[in-house]
Amino acid sequence: MPAGRMPCIMDVPEDSHFPVENLPYGVFRPVAGGDARVGVAIGEHVLDLAALAEADLFDDTHLRGTNAFARASLNEFMNLGRPAWTATRNRIQALLTGDDPRLANDRELRARALHSMHEVELQLPVEIGDYTDFYSSKHHAFNVGTMFRGPEHALMPNYLHLPVAYHGRASSVIPSGVDVHRPRGQILPPGSDTPVFASCRLLDFELEMGFFVAGESELGRPVSVDRAADHIFGFVIVNDWSARDIQKWEYQPLGPFNAKNFATSISPWVVTLDALEPFRIDGPAQAPEPLPYLRARDHWTLDIRLDVRLQAEGMDAPQTIAETNFRHLYWTPSQQLAHHTITGCNLRTGDLIASGTISGPERRERGSMLELAWRGTEPIELGNGETRTFLNDGDTVIMTGYCAGDGYRVGFGDARGKVLPAVE
Ligand code: CA
Repeated sequence: MPAGRMPCIMDVPEDSHFPVENLPYGVFRPVAGGDARVGVAIGEHVLDLAALAEADLFDDTHLRGTNAFARASLNEFMNLGRPAWTATRNRIQALLTGDDPRLANDRELRARALHSMHEVELQLPVEIGDYTDFYSSKHHAFNVGTMFRGPEHALMPNYLHLPVAYHGRASSVIPSGVDVHRPRGQILPPGSDTPVFASCRLLDFELEMGFFVAGESELGRPVSVDRAADHIFGFVIVNDWSARDIQKWEYQPLGPFNAKNFATSISPWVVTLDALEPFRIDGPAQAPEPLPYLRARDHWTLDIRLDVRLQAEGMDAPQTIAETNFRHLYWTPSQQLAHHTITGCNLRTGDLIASGTISGPERRERGSMLELAWRGTEPIELGNGETRTFLNDGDTVIMTGYCAGDGYRVGFGDARGKVLPAVE
């Protein structure tokens, strides 16, 4: 066993995203039938937490008297707060390492509580309230600004002073594996001053990460940057599908609307802040110094490797087209929440806060087709001889990411979606 890796009663491959160090939460339904309920991923299996609760294995934790796992969303569990999350994680970890032998020694309970990943259907893990999308990557903002305004005016004057964002649409957030129809809408053809109604021709992905908010905050009371982490339950990968030609015509003066509201894919496992703790690193240098409400005593971000793969129809395997890291973001999750609530805007359990496209300094680290193919001028070559400047019908986009531990990975699984033709 590699150094640094905890023992586990289950067989977990070394490159698995879901060792006993991770324990991400999700909502699943057995293919064989039964209600949706909460589980954690362990290697190639899902551990049914409702079954463990029924067997009284959480009775002495903060979960006493609740049935938070026999639910079709994580919201009730998220509402219990960090002491309950940590106590639950410690108990699950003890059961899976064998420190607490009650699962290892109970063959009947193991048969009931452990499902092969192939035998379950994963659902949206959270009942999502509001969805906010930030624009936290300075590299992404600079790339897009350079394309449209030139490098001297690439960043808007506000960019280094506040985390730019807009309020998105929660109803069209979908779990990995749900396919996406190419949207139709108003597009201004090049050289014309009259729009046409047509299928999007410049369909794009955006590689992002998002976190789920837990715990209500009071209307009128900002959440300080130093308390923001209390409201962060865990992270997922986000693909914020984008229609660039619709966006270009509609976005001024209020920002994107139809261009972004048709689909947002997320990975199904929520990786908790406790699991990410070993991968917390110092936040990025920020100059000019932000205003006091955005200055944290502990200015942290996360070291998470991310990549995007594309598989066109007819390709045998997906091809990696971008590799970057969460650490490249300019504005941190705590700064995003502090800014979001500084007016007194309240948070609710289940809100999804996305980072915005994550691009790094290098060409290969660009998190959208718009940037990778530089507005259509530098096509991407695929292994099957085709090229891409934006997405074609039949293309599957697969985003994934993990933190590299000492002999193990804390991973997020996939956010995957295939582009289907427009609905006529
Ligand atoms: Ca976005």
